[in-house]
Amino acid sequence: MAIIELENVKKNYQLGKTEVPALQGVSFKIEKGDFVSIVGPSGSGKSTILNLLGCIDTASSGVVKINETATSELTDMDLTRIRRQSIGFIFQTFNLLPTLNVYENIEFPLLLKNRKISRQDKKKQKEYIDHLVEEVGLTGRENHRPSELSGGQRQRVAIARALVTQPQIVLADEPTANLDSKTGEEIIDLMKRINRELQTTFIFSTHDQSIMEIADHIIRLKDGSVVENRRNNP
Ligand code: ADP
Ligand code: ADP
Repeated sequence: MAIIELENVKKNYQLGKTEVPALQGVSFKIEKGDFVSIVGPSGSGKSTILNLLGCIDTASSGVVKINETATSELTDMDLTRIRRQSIGFIFQTFNLLPTLNVYENIEFPLLLKNRKISRQDKKKQKEYIDHLVEEVGLTGRENHRPSELSGGQRQRVAIARALVTQPQIVLADEPTANLDSKTGEEIIDLMKRINRELQTTFIFSTHDQSIMEIADHIIRLKDGSVVENRRNNP
């Protein structure tokens, strides 16, 4: 089943009096559980697509479907719910909260999702966060602040944070752009392992050729159009 479908999606940004075309009629489908790479040079539209998939921006025309529902038919409340419950976000600059430690950064999306929870559920949450900390290889660093971690470790925190709500989809915008190539590969390998274990659909943008080879599905953009759409493991 396609978890995501774009049909002839166009996006223009208004820059003063001029319209900047960012997507010029993009169509593709993404299968549930796939590890998907969106590739293309700077300015080709990668972030714009991830913003549309993350329900943080809307298309100028065309249809964006998540779980077979057009996002244009959803209310703002529905979109907020999808963002908080069904989608995890990973950014190139990590975007951790500097005053919170590793554990608290990972916990943070849960505080937005459930305002009041029972003591029992709180205990279950703690067990799951401990499990995620171990999964991303940060056991023993729960009390460290982001400033006390390397770039690779910060991105591991961000991956655990993206997973804590058990989302169906994780969106990662250039997750390796601020890491050296070896650390970048480790981060992609970790995302791939989690993708296999949890069957979470991962969609990440990159312009690193070596990293995209691990993907199940490659969508290549140029000047706001899809120039290659290839699924490796049908
Ligand atoms: P990529 O992520 O591949 O670098 P983007 O999606 O960021 O590409 O950008 C696609 C195009 O849209 C580029 O021409 C960019 O300059 C333009 N663009 C992106 N965001 C904005 C914005 N907020 N206002 C105006 N133009 C934008
Ligand atoms: P990596 O090889 O994973 O990129 P680094 O060489 O940057 O890691 O760091 C090695 C160790 O030093 C890491 O375990 C990290 O926790 C610790 N470390 C890195 N930067 C800082 C810092 N600014 N303050 C405290 N500890 C740090």
